[in-house]
Amino acid sequence: MTFDLAAVRTQFPILTRRIGDVPLHYLDNAATAQVPDAVLDAMRRFEATSRANVLRGVHQLAEEATAAYAGARSSVAQYLNAADDEIVFTSGTTAAINLVAHSFGAMIGAGDEVVISEIEHHSNIVPWQMLRDRRGIVLKVIPVSDDGRLDLTKLDQLVTRRCRLIAVTHVSNVTGAVTELDRIVTIARSVSARVLLDGAQRAPHGPIDLPGLGVDFYALSGHKMFGPHGIGVLWARRDLLEAMPPFLGGGEMIRTVTMERTSYAAPPHKFEAGTPPIGPAIGLGKAAEWLMGLDWPAVSAHEMRLTQRVLDGLPARTRVIGPAGLQGRMPVISFDVPGVHPHDVCQLLDRRGVALRGGHHCAQPLMDRLGLAGTTRASIALYNNDDDVDTLLTGLDDVVRRLGRT
Ligand code: PMP
Repeated sequence: MTFDLAAVRTQFPILTRRIGDVPLHYLDNAATAQVPDAVLDAMRRFEATSRANVLRGVHQLAEEATAAYAGARSSVAQYLNAADDEIVFTSGTTAAINLVAHSFGAMIGAGDEVVISEIEHHSNIVPWQMLRDRRGIVLKVIPVSDDGRLDLTKLDQLVTRRCRLIAVTHVSNVTGAVTELDRIVTIARSVSARVLLDGAQRAPHGPIDLPGLGVDFYALSGHKMFGPHGIGVLWARRDLLEAMPPFLGGGEMIRTVTMERTSYAAPPHKFEAGTPPIGPAIGLGKAAEWLMGLDWPAVSAHEMRLTQRVLDGLPARTRVIGPAGLQGRMPVISFDVPGVHPHDVCQLLDRRGVALRGGHHCAQPLMDRLGLAGTTRASIALYNNDDDVDTLLTGLDDVVRRLGRT
């Protein structure tokens, strides 16, 4: 198998769009990636032919919807090398982390420690601060190095016997740095702490062997991995899902309810209260299947070749915020154009059809640490091509020449 970029691009209808009178160059994939026909078709097919609620119905459509929903869970499980009943559908990464902060958080208390890091997306900071304020846990923070990676040099001092959880990102949505997991997992095991990974930025870049990572929780968002909005996943080890109390209560998550008390369904249903986002789950399942059909060594080589081209081709007066090379990084590239606000960079590039993101990227503590108000970010997906990179680099040259500080 190889990677046929032209054939893949034809599967993404939005890539033929024009922005004004120029073609679209979509480089904001870390915020939301685009959706291939296979996913659009699967969702349309479900809504047009099998739409019904899941689990309790006994009519034909309800059975078809239930089977499609279960099939989507299996496809996602396969993508993550996990068991079906370890996959909890949520509305996204944020909801998945909040679920853990509530349900796992209910099993820890005053004086217990949770370790996060300075590089985290707000989604992996705020739920833990809220838990601290609810339950009196102690929140500790792994610092970040100057090149935008987790600085693990003082990990031994940070992680004590009171540590119950280390919750860090798998890949930074700002710097693209991949977290060095081995040391984190080893030290967590040594004090019987659990590890949660925010996989939002890793999930679009190929199947993941979750059990092999040695972590306990994994959160991801469907819309960043070529699926729809409004759907995401919490993966957790079965023993944890069994031990944790549910977060939201309501229909679908119960075994029996009396006016006095409720017993809960087995995981994953225990954590899926109410009618789930059935169509979006089916879309995400199809996205996982579609991704599993690709030649990942070839796709990764393509993504990283484009990343190298961006790193090499950024104008001299810009500064990369994050790892300088390809080692331990993913195709998310932040940079600073001295003297030009990231929003202005994005607006000027938008006139050339280049979609970028500028700002704090929901990582204000990281911006504070790096002494920046924000960065400009280009994030590459498998369908990007050399033309996207050329247009980005030409546009940046122009911005720097006209507005950049020397
Ligand atoms: N974590 C990371 C690393 C992210 O990049 C994002 C999305 N920008 C999130 C969490 C939150 O994802 P969502 O908004 O889909 O819940």
